[in-house]
Amino acid sequence: MIDVQEKINLIRFRLDKKSHISIDHKKCSACLTKPCLFACPAGMFTLSDEEVLYSYEGCLECGTCYVICSSKSIHWNYPKGGCGVSYREA
Ligand code: SF4
Repeated sequence: MIDVQEKINLIRFRLDKKSHISIDHKKCSACLTKPCLFACPAGMFTLSDEEVLYSYEGCLECGTCYVICSSKSIHWNYPKGGCGVSYREA
């Protein structure tokens, strides 16, 4: 049986100083469902005073938030070369 937490513990991140994610808060505020809050496997999005906040440090680079954002409020790119997530096999 696969222990997901064990797999996640193998992930390494090399942080860029600059976020590879940004949100257009004006567009985002018009979105009623805010699917990013539920779809991100790393839980990078939270709601505070009706505004979506995010962090990028634990981003798994799956691209789900970019695809699922129906209001196209989320801008997402891969981190610059040498930064971001590194996956390792156990
Ligand atoms: Fe979360 Fe994936 Fe978006 Fe990273 S790319 S913030 S892991 S949904």
